[in-house]
Amino acid sequence: MQKEDNLKDIISHAKEYGFVFPSSEIYDGLAATYDYGQLGSELKNNIKAYWWKSMVQMRENVVGIDSAIFMHPGIWKASGHVDAFNDPLIDNKDSKKRYRADVLLEEFIEKIQVKINKDVAKGLKRFGDNFNKEEFLKTNPNVLRNQAKIDDVENRMRETLGKNDLEGVYNLIVDLEIACPVSGSKNWTEVRQFNLMFSTELGSIAGDASTLYLRPETAQGIFVNFLNVQKSGRMKIPFGIAQIGKAFRNEIVARQFIFRMREFEQMEMQFFIRPGEQEKWYEYWKEQRMNWHLALGISDESYRFHDHIKLAHYADAASDIEFDFPMGFKELEGIHSRTDFDLKQHEEHTGKKLQYFDPELNKNYVPYVIETSIGLDRMFLAVLSSSFKNEDLGDGKTRAVLSLPAALAPYKVAVMPLTKKDGLPEKAREIMDNLKFDFNCAYDEKDSPGKRYRRQDAIGTPYSIMVDHETLENNTVTIRDRDTMEQERVAISELNSIIAKRVSFKALLSGEAVSLQSN
Ligand code: ATP
Repeated sequence: MQKEDNLKDIISHAKEYGFVFPSSEIYDGLAATYDYGQLGSELKNNIKAYWWKSMVQMRENVVGIDSAIFMHPGIWKASGHVDAFNDPLIDNKDSKKRYRADVLLEEFIEKIQVKINKDVAKGLKRFGDNFNKEEFLKTNPNVLRNQAKIDDVENRMRETLGKNDLEGVYNLIVDLEIACPVSGSKNWTEVRQFNLMFSTELGSIAGDASTLYLRPETAQGIFVNFLNVQKSGRMKIPFGIAQIGKAFRNEIVARQFIFRMREFEQMEMQFFIRPGEQEKWYEYWKEQRMNWHLALGISDESYRFHDHIKLAHYADAASDIEFDFPMGFKELEGIHSRTDFDLKQHEEHTGKKLQYFDPELNKNYVPYVIETSIGLDRMFLAVLSSSFKNEDLGDGKTRAVLSLPAALAPYKVAVMPLTKKDGLPEKAREIMDNLKFDFNCAYDEKDSPGKRYRRQDAIGTPYSIMVDHETLENNTVTIRDRDTMEQERVAISELNSIIAKRVSFKALLSGEAVSLQSN
């Protein structure tokens, strides 16, 4: 199946089963906004809980807050977002389509990279076990030519984008003969800057109003509360402050389902450290965050790091964790070394000291910061797209299954009476009433068992329990595994521990798979 078709299938599956709906649908929708349905909000809450548990509750030196979306407008002036939170945009005059100039250039590089990868694959096929990839990359003339091209474009991107030289960016696009993916034409407008913040007005009397911004990131709510948390929590450096919340960006091109929206949710953590220790902690958090992803059991090959060429105005190093979405590898999470930029800016704009007294060094300083920032909606798409399969069962039969990591599944278990009579529904409800304290349970008595199993497969429920006549005799049930479809007869008294073993966060977070140390 083509990957783009795969995205279409995922979107329709998500709608059909109540995961994600287009927003305001009965009014023909609103571009790039989506609503999470009854199962989507469960999955989303479980992703949040997985993050919060591992980033906050399991670490003694990280605490969480929940700051307001509206903040004093001076904060956005100080943080640089009023003046520098821009994307360079360019329009194609023929298709009238708008693009981010830096994205066009990144995609150009990606195409050359694909050529290199193809040459490597050919080499591997030809030389088999004798193939030396490193040597090949250093000597093959095609690869060398393509790599030189990439290096050249990256250098020119650094020179132009890094200095906000918009004419330079335009010239680069023209020189590289980049064409519009829709019209195929190279008829471009100039490159312009576009501020991504939404604004609104505070106050009811026109003229008296002051401009407010909907926050474009949750991080600033953390910075301005740095001292409140440090003092009230008696926090010692190094320590982190985390939060989950909505962010808003007036994206130039918002598309690709929930990947890029104008209203979305972030899970961010700012880790405050001694100046000079940023390299060590940057590497530490890169590793920790990658481990958090890998612990979910999604294929390792779906993730990669991508170091930034164009650094944001606040960063001295930045890397993305990219995920292999149905649209290809794209940013899922950012890890940024933000220096002391933000706290210093807030000091300057408020005249208030935002410093820490380090008892070991016996001095005051403005801490440096490492940030980890992940989009909850992108994580939702990563989990959903990697779990969705149309499985061939042989004999022309297929089943749609969401093999979600069990701890994230909306329902952990479905309880079903074999028939609607003979006291089986009552027994099933009795079992469910016992399980529902620990697990989110679904009850289903409609249609044939086969159909009911398929329905649970399609929404990712790891276990289904069938209550039959034998249950009434000896208090046993069959428990069916979503992935293997195998059924086993077990005692009702064992259910709780069987289910807990597989669906609890403990299995993911106990470090069995990879190390998530609480440091
Ligand atoms: P991109 O380059 O894709 O626009 P970004 O580098 O601007 O992303 P950050 O400012 O680093 O993103 O934001 C942190 C995280 O927030 C991203 O890794 C992403 O997961 C998420 N995010 C950012 N913008 C959006 C959006 N418009 N819709 C959904 N998630 C987003």
